[in-house]
Amino acid sequence: MSKNHVHKTLYGLADANNFYVSCERLFRPGLNGKPVVVLSNNDGCVISRSNEAKPLIPMGAPAFQYEEIFRKHGVEVFSANFALYGDLSTRMMNIIGRYTPDMEIYSIDEAFLKFDGFENIPLEEYMSGMKKEIFRAIGIPLTIGIGPTKTLAKAAARIAKKFPGRTRGVYLLDTPEKIDKALRWLPVGDIHGIGRRISAKLLQMNVQKASDFIKLSDSFLRKRFGIQVVRIKHELKGNAVFDLEMPQPRQRIATTRTFAGHIRDFDEMRERIATFTSVTAAKLRKQKSACNFITVFIRTNRHRQDLKQYAGSITLKTDYPTDSSIELSKLALTGLRKIWRNGYDYKKAGILVSELVPAGERQLNLFVPTDERHHRLMNVIDRLNLRYGHNLLKLGGQDPQRTWKMKQARLSPAYTTRLTDIIKVYT
Ligand SMILES: [Mg+2]
Repeated sequence: MSKNHVHKTLYGLADANNFYVSCERLFRPGLNGKPVVVLSNNDGCVISRSNEAKPLIPMGAPAFQYEEIFRKHGVEVFSANFALYGDLSTRMMNIIGRYTPDMEIYSIDEAFLKFDGFENIPLEEYMSGMKKEIFRAIGIPLTIGIGPTKTLAKAAARIAKKFPGRTRGVYLLDTPEKIDKALRWLPVGDIHGIGRRISAKLLQMNVQKASDFIKLSDSFLRKRFGIQVVRIKHELKGNAVFDLEMPQPRQRIATTRTFAGHIRDFDEMRERIATFTSVTAAKLRKQKSACNFITVFIRTNRHRQDLKQYAGSITLKTDYPTDSSIELSKLALTGLRKIWRNGYDYKKAGILVSELVPAGERQLNLFVPTDERHHRLMNVIDRLNLRYGHNLLKLGGQDPQRTWKMKQARLSPAYTTRLTDIIKVYT
């Protein structure tokens, strides 16, 4: 391998910086340079922080414990506005998709790219151009890492993020020397796909950097941590093991019904929506997917213009990709309460789940540990339903106490998607 050997196929990772905070700042430029955080559904915990907020507040911090810090440091706090983030994400991904035909949307603000047959294109400049275009067009700052494997592209992005001055937000790991240096810098806990549990064990063995990690033997790694960790090691050594994951056959699953009569009663609708959600979650589990968004809609009979007309729909982001009937029912009922209006005859209602990911990816989530018991419970429900007919086992989604309630006290307007809110921006 010559000194400046250029790998034939390279992978890129484009990652928006502090994405949710960046989205909020677009419409409130006065917040630039100030500490800003965005909270999860129900205003539970911090899920996005501006650079100024990072030294003050840890990721995932429970908001109620930090009210004092928020006040003391003048931290601007937003409820998550996923309608806004989803729209800006789509615009960003559309631009990214013009730069390479091979692209995998990895999360709301990250995409893996594949550069096959780009040998004569200077990728650093090419990606800087994309970064500039996205900033000009939609105002979102990006970091881009490029390397011979997905895992190295992710590492390159981490370097670009850590050293914005020197890299200008784009970093290319294209020579053995640069890769070697990067691995000696990269902490094991920051290796893509190595979770907290495994990195804690590695640290106990005094394996601190990626360069230490790749010295461990395949057989040891396989025995101790499983085959996936062996694959990550090979990726770090420059052998591409993980290719782009192409979109799944079904990117959304819907369960909708037109009622024979109509529904006027909230409790009756709530029961229907809970049932639709259980059915949809079972479909998700059957195809081994988890979803990032759930949409609830209700509407009156369009063909009866003699009756009062109303249609309501809402899309909510799950805290993490989920296939759980319990989690999804909670969200669906929250959504239903928000869109429900008394006094209408509802004719049709439904549930849609979208942004599906393979269910196995759930453990990559940073904040919410996958609850294995919960997962086993869902499997039992599926099996019993299969055996004894649909919805023999129902969840207590019909929560009469309303013990929990969607709390989004600090929601910004849906600047880009709701007309009345768009007007707010310009008036
Ligand atoms: Mg990001």
